[in-house]
Amino acid sequence: MEKNRIKSRREFIKDSGKATLAAGLSTTVLSTLANAGTLQTNFYNKKNIPYTQTPLPYSYTALEPSIDAMTMEIHYTKHAAGYAKNLADACKQENVNTQDTSLESLLSSVSKYSVQLRNNAGGHYNHELFWKIMGPKISASSPSGKLADMIQRDFNSFEAFQSQFADAAKNRFGSGWSWLVYTNDKKLIIGSTPNQDNPLMDISDLKGLPVMGLDVWEHAYYLKYQNKRADYINAWWNILNWNFIGERFEANI
Ligand code: MN
Repeated sequence: MEKNRIKSRREFIKDSGKATLAAGLSTTVLSTLANAGTLQTNFYNKKNIPYTQTPLPYSYTALEPSIDAMTMEIHYTKHAAGYAKNLADACKQENVNTQDTSLESLLSSVSKYSVQLRNNAGGHYNHELFWKIMGPKISASSPSGKLADMIQRDFNSFEAFQSQFADAAKNRFGSGWSWLVYTNDKKLIIGSTPNQDNPLMDISDLKGLPVMGLDVWEHAYYLKYQNKRADYINAWWNILNWNFIGERFEANI
């Protein structure tokens, strides 16, 4: 019995090692996970976001005046729809079994695939998350629960967090995203990625669970804000769905 138990534990470490190696988890984390006998904190294996575009959870006008209706409509029906379609094409071409492979785990080994798949897998994931972390009715103007506690712990205050996040968004040169990320060593950090890269990707310098992300491509704000990216960032804080962000955070950590 004892021998079998040890063997199965070794197998577990071996199997989880394959996934975690690609995801860049440290051996300390791996050993903690193995000791716990579960991959509870391995968010790379969670099937959170489907491969196809889901309906926008509100109308195109719902985020006015922070984001205008025409920007929302073009962004959702043209840009984001394009990423979803091109992702499906790339998966077909590169023999990705989308039934058995979660989008999250595909992203964690995206270096094995083409640039086209990388750009569109990131583009699709990022936008699906982006629509859901925003909302027309503000239930709360700041987070609560665990997320609020951890923001306080890691940034000292919600205001300091906002300021650091806004700086990351302003300073991302060209097109990309700014992120609040939960790292493998259980810390919240802020950073940004170029193009449609995201922190789930093995090729990304910034790694971890994307808690929330802000699209700073010009297509996300140019019709209303033109060159004034900072004004778009300021207005964005008014349309965040902190209930969704906080619940998703707690479900994934
Ligand atoms: Mn976009």
